[in-house]
Amino acid sequence: MIARDAASLVPQLTRSALLAQARNALERAGISSPARDAEILLLHALAISKTRLWSDRAAVVSEEDAARFARLLEARCRRVPIQHLLGEVSFHAAELDVEPGVFIPRPETERLVEVVLQELDAELGDSPASGTIVDLGTGTGAIPIALLLTLPKGWTAAAIDRSEKAIALASRNARRNGVARRLTLRTGDFREPPPPDFACPADVLVSNPPYIPTGAIQGLMPEVREHDPLEALDGGADGLDAFRTVAGCIESWLKPGGILALEIGEDQADPCMELFGPHLSGARIARDLAGIPRVLTGRRRGTR
Ligand code: SAM
Ligand code: GLN
Repeated sequence: MIARDAASLVPQLTRSALLAQARNALERAGISSPARDAEILLLHALAISKTRLWSDRAAVVSEEDAARFARLLEARCRRVPIQHLLGEVSFHAAELDVEPGVFIPRPETERLVEVVLQELDAELGDSPASGTIVDLGTGTGAIPIALLLTLPKGWTAAAIDRSEKAIALASRNARRNGVARRLTLRTGDFREPPPPDFACPADVLVSNPPYIPTGAIQGLMPEVREHDPLEALDGGADGLDAFRTVAGCIESWLKPGGILALEIGEDQADPCMELFGPHLSGARIARDLAGIPRVLTGRRRGTR
């Protein structure tokens, strides 16, 4: 009897009531997409599909599920990135594990992958049967894994990151996506010459390097500032340090005639064109879905 009375004091919340409460809490915490985040976290806590959620919105949520949801919600209100709460992210053709301490792949970087595939005529199924890719600063391995999944099996890639944690995670992601035998991963610094076991110079050189000016990092969203590693963001005083490094030794990484594709930050199209223009033919800037200049691409000039 006592137990039943106690139980009746605990509010029996339905899925839609919980969602409404969560939306409010997230909005108060300053989250920019409260409805979307509330739904994603509830689906994760209940381990159900969106269809099931919306076809049975009046279902009462068990205490255990509600507690799991409350823990996720509390962390999201502290601005922990939603990808860390889910433990994974979709990136182009890949499904990737993410973990604290390694940069979370962004949707705008999918544009870089598309640009490379366009340059290789992969959309028409006409890309060369084999080739080599090098990625500088690979993080979760997002870019080379997505490219290998989309290109013919004869393609291989090599990727470097100075974070051991990133390389361990990239290696797990390569296995998860079935491309481990085609991807060489090394811990190291891309300011130094290519590791001896990299197929360098390569047919394709890609990178999403750190490009935020040091002084702008404090002004980033807490999800980025407090959860992405500083070494993934900090591009030096003007944000261009990594681009200067790559422009200065491009011939050791990329073959003449090879494709370069670099992600750049807002307002970096002009200085990056100045740095890379002399090394490239057909240099151009592709915009992302938000219309922001995002990827510098072109083919390396020269004969050696
Ligand atoms: N390519 C991944 C992506 O797009 O999701 C990660 C990009 S993150 C913006 C930049 C990465 O470069 C980080 O993982 C960082 O550890 C790595 N990095 C920064 N400076 C480096 C250097 N000098 N040598 C090697 N890796 C570096
Ligand atoms: N795009 C990242 C951001 O959200 C920065 C990535 C980078 O420095 N390469 O700020």
